[in-house]
Amino acid sequence: MKKIILTADRPTGNLHIGHYVGSIANRLKLQEQNDYEKYYIMIADTQALTDNADNVDKVKNNIIQVAIDYLSAGIDPNKVEIFIQSQVPELAEMTMYFMNLVTVARLTRNPTVKDEIKQRGFANSLPVGFLCYPISQAADICAFNANCIPVGEDQLPMLEQAREIVRSFNHAYGKEVLTLPEPLLPENEACRRLPGIDGGLKMSKSAGNCIYLKDEPEEIKRKVMSAYTDPNHIKISDPGKVEGNVVFKYLDAFATDESFKKFLPEYKNLEELKAHYRNGGLGDVKIKLFLNNVLQELLAPIRERRKALEKDIDSIYKMLFENGKKVRKIAGETILRMKEAMGLDYEKLLKKEN
Ligand code: ATP
Ligand code: MG
Repeated sequence: MKKIILTADRPTGNLHIGHYVGSIANRLKLQEQNDYEKYYIMIADTQALTDNADNVDKVKNNIIQVAIDYLSAGIDPNKVEIFIQSQVPELAEMTMYFMNLVTVARLTRNPTVKDEIKQRGFANSLPVGFLCYPISQAADICAFNANCIPVGEDQLPMLEQAREIVRSFNHAYGKEVLTLPEPLLPENEACRRLPGIDGGLKMSKSAGNCIYLKDEPEEIKRKVMSAYTDPNHIKISDPGKVEGNVVFKYLDAFATDESFKKFLPEYKNLEELKAHYRNGGLGDVKIKLFLNNVLQELLAPIRERRKALEKDIDSIYKMLFENGKKVRKIAGETILRMKEAMGLDYEKLLKKEN
């Protein structure tokens, strides 16, 4: 079976280096491999509104920001259909049908959603839409018959929920109407959930602990130099802890043996650097300056491309709107198939009467 790829980001801010290693790098690889039937990337504005209902402008303004981030990271609009979620209203219709197949208890058990509810301090003000966003995410995937979903680890519970919905739907309505999606995680474990610069479990736009793809060189350096390391590693001679140390986590994700040759040739690789840090005698400033060099090298060309793209925002909007119209047709075909399977194809009744 050929791959149908779909993945998405919430337009709640610019994309950060967690997105890059967690999902964008795999998207670029898939784009290069070229063995897919269809390839969609969705800007999930409807989903972003589930916790930003009072901040529509933020969501609206970030749509173009995320689109520019994609293009500057190397996503090729000739190979990938990038579109805006709310321009495909069929997704909302599908969500309604799916809602009947999921219990409230199941939704409240979702570990990612649980964490996000806590992080946002929702307690008694939890919007129904937010609790249900895993269901709408299942609709996004199913509408396009997607079977390959490049994501970070926090999305695994969403994929599990989507798979349950597909099974329930196909079971309830007796047909293989919907396709089972598979997550595609980064091979490198360190890339699956990049922590925040503050040591928070996950770098995320909503937590404000990010290094953004668009950050200027001074900003990147400032953030790297402030990153959480080992609070007990006070003097250079102290032995340091690598586990839970954000700088080493980032190096796990971004540094290659090539990076050492280029920026820190006195060490052969990351293992050697870690061993020195553990034994004592290696200061935080040195490892941070190395990380800074590695990140600057990755982000400079992305930032340059962004500057060029920012000059013609209209053509990016036009591309998004055109794609929205195109992909709507596909979602429409899926909804028709679903309704037929459910027996909601009422026009058939009319034909019988005539
Ligand atoms: P928000 O805080 O608004 O939820 P976010 O930073 O979590 O934003 P999303 O748009 O929710 O970003 O996630 C988009 C994709 O990026 C998902 O596939 C997600 O798994 C991946 N991703 C997000 N943050 C990270 C991270 N820190 N490490 C690895 N992957 C990540
Ligand atoms: Mg998120």
